[in-house]
Amino acid sequence: MKVHEYQAKEVLSKFGVPVPKGRVAFSADEAFSIAKEIGGTVVVKSQIHAGGRGKGKFTSGFQGGVKLAKTPEEAKELASKMVGNILVTHQTGPEGKKVEKLYITEASDIKKEYYLGIVLDRARECNVIMASTEGGVEIEKVAAETPEKIVKVWVDPMLGLQKFQVRELGFALGFEGDTMKSFGGLIEKLYAAHEASDSTLTEINPLITTPDGKVIALDAKMNFDDNALFRHPDIAALRDITEEDPLEVEASKFDLNYIKLDGTIGCMVNGAGLAMATMDVITLEGGVPANFLDVGGGATTERVKNAFRILLSDKNVKAVMINIFGGIVRCDIIAEGVIAAAKEIGIRLPVVVRLQGTNAEKGMEMLKSSGQNLLTASSLQEAAALAVKASKGE
Ligand code: GDP
Ligand code: MN
Repeated sequence: MKVHEYQAKEVLSKFGVPVPKGRVAFSADEAFSIAKEIGGTVVVKSQIHAGGRGKGKFTSGFQGGVKLAKTPEEAKELASKMVGNILVTHQTGPEGKKVEKLYITEASDIKKEYYLGIVLDRARECNVIMASTEGGVEIEKVAAETPEKIVKVWVDPMLGLQKFQVRELGFALGFEGDTMKSFGGLIEKLYAAHEASDSTLTEINPLITTPDGKVIALDAKMNFDDNALFRHPDIAALRDITEEDPLEVEASKFDLNYIKLDGTIGCMVNGAGLAMATMDVITLEGGVPANFLDVGGGATTERVKNAFRILLSDKNVKAVMINIFGGIVRCDIIAEGVIAAAKEIGIRLPVVVRLQGTNAEKGMEMLKSSGQNLLTASSLQEAAALAVKASKGE
């Protein structure tokens, strides 16, 4: 689960990580009063679930989703250009994201910008901390062009973050004296926050030093492990569904593992592994999947119906491919669900069904004699080929 910068900073500051003080605003007037309350120069920051806001551009033509304001009047003026408008950054895609909230923070004096990130390294089965003197810019670019400028430290989950690792990171960033101490405190608190909140990504870009030797998290991004949210009700409450894909939100209501993609073939599969294999075969056959969807091992008529409805509400979908292996579920039950869903929802598109496993033949017979426009296939390849053809209107 993703959260906004202001929410990530709330989580981090509970652990004592130093962040500039600020408050969230929903309108230009609110931005004005918060700027007045903070006093001095403030930063007006668009809150969207995407980075690159500073260099982003609004569809209105207004440049920059993060701007400094010297007075409350200026903060109000800037806020009015941001709130309610669509911000396009290199992470939002060309369609951009609508800015509904702003974070008004006190402005910091920057001596230098750094990058600091903690992420789960699945291959090494532990967290990796990455630090770089090349902060503020896109870390992906640094990783691609000058990977030697990123220092990595892997943290043993049993031992936790060690002092020598903190020093290694600090020295790599060129810190010494009080700045080193300040950095040491920050990274220990940041790591504690990351672990305790079941974060899968905690990124500070930029981490800054100030002219008086302080180290501060100027920006913050956190992603949380969905499967651990049940033990963090306070973090689960930070979910902002207006930032998520509406179809994914709908699917999550029915516990369907649905991820929207940008292709034309809607897929309904039971089991995540089979769902991925299905997407691979569709791609091999020259098609593009419109989604990943695992209806789960115990696919009931109700689940199939909801999954079908969600698939068909994606307007890019030109054909549907249903691929079910009857292991825990029986294929005739699935066929019943597909037919019921087809009758209830009405199918406007070609639907290819491939059933394999327990009672597959019975299921296929039911589909064929249902009077619904359902194409059947017995092998995965055949089903994918049919679906790809149908998606191209051939
Ligand atoms: P992002 O573009 O979405 O990553 O947003 P950031 O919060 O990282 O802000 C982008 C850039 O704006 C930073 O890299 C800074 O250069 C600048 N910026 C943000 N806050 C401040 C601030 O308090 N003072 C100054 N001088 N610059 C800031
Ligand atoms: Mn940033």
